[in-house]
Amino acid sequence: MQTFQFHPYLYKTFLFYLRSQNSQITPSAYYLMVRKIIHIDMDAFFASIEQRDNEAFRGKPLAVGYAEARGVVAAASYEARRYGVRSAMPSKTALKKCPHLIFTHGRYDVYKSVSNEIMEIFQEYTDLVEPLSLDEAFLDVTENRFGISSATEIAKEIKQKIFEKTNLTASAGVSYNKFLAKIASDYRKPDGLFIIRPKDGEQFVETLEIERFFGVGKVTAEAMHQMGIKTGSDLKQFSEAQLTQAFGKAGHTFYLNARGIDDRLVEPDRERKSMGAELTFEHDIDSLEQLQLILHEVAEDVIGRIDKRDFIGRTVTLKIKYADFQIITRSKTGFVPVTTFEQLYRIGLELLAPIDTSPKIRLLGLTIKRNDNRIHPADAYQLKIQFEEWKNER
Ligand SMILES: [Mg+2]
Repeated sequence: MQTFQFHPYLYKTFLFYLRSQNSQITPSAYYLMVRKIIHIDMDAFFASIEQRDNEAFRGKPLAVGYAEARGVVAAASYEARRYGVRSAMPSKTALKKCPHLIFTHGRYDVYKSVSNEIMEIFQEYTDLVEPLSLDEAFLDVTENRFGISSATEIAKEIKQKIFEKTNLTASAGVSYNKFLAKIASDYRKPDGLFIIRPKDGEQFVETLEIERFFGVGKVTAEAMHQMGIKTGSDLKQFSEAQLTQAFGKAGHTFYLNARGIDDRLVEPDRERKSMGAELTFEHDIDSLEQLQLILHEVAEDVIGRIDKRDFIGRTVTLKIKYADFQIITRSKTGFVPVTTFEQLYRIGLELLAPIDTSPKIRLLGLTIKRNDNRIHPADAYQLKIQFEEWKNER
């Protein structure tokens, strides 16, 4: 059947127009604007790569990370997950759950190069690719280079190509917006393919647990439970005004999502402003030593994500979330672009050192931000000195 295709920006404008007229989007109008979105997510990415490259790890419970008493699991194989091992879990806990768990150190440069391979496959189909992390991306294939009308067909092809090229499996979710495509990719993991069609979307979200909704973390979920909201169908009982009053701007998103609507576009951000990673711990931590190990892991992850050719940032920000959810950030802007693990880890340690770790901490994050301002000529000399110092220290 022929459907009307809107350019993404026209589409957004049109949605705004509809809202300004009548805040309620009619199903028929929405159907006309339907887009074809795929969410691809590699299965246990880091751990699967390690199992692929080392025969001794195959079929075994494997953790990427450090086995030391204060280490944490960065990623776990499916065999390890069966024992309850999860990422961000202290290694000590993981070993209690699975005494024969094998640990291997992360090879983030390898993960980055596999990531490039899969991103290239996505680009064969469309420019509208929005990577969420090394192993995950949204694709808008409404219009694609091969003129394939079925998004499901494209998802199958991509899964096949990924397997041929990398010997790894991915799961795909196909739907008409980002919210549902992401839920769909998680629905039949691993090696899954799940489709949520426009006519089924609204009913599908009714049965969905509130924790699965976009933007619902621990705190929001708790607040929703207190309002008696456990599923999408409970959420739907609340008016837009009630939800906005309770959750601010996010309330508007919840209102739309509860109706299977999500108007966020797939945005290929070539002009990425920052690159970061964070880790929420299984148990709150108050030891500086353990935080330093986690920082090590997070810094490797961030460096693995940046493309050194076109991402240059000089500002490093450390984010700490305490057990009471209070967030603090500490930043430092240097003269030299941060492109190596050694640089990032060193700055991270400097930022972490003065932080009060006596209250328990539940999350640590690290970000490198692009600095738009060019380096002033007067700083160039200073920059050279810093760079030399840095080289000498290594
Ligand atoms: Mg994944």
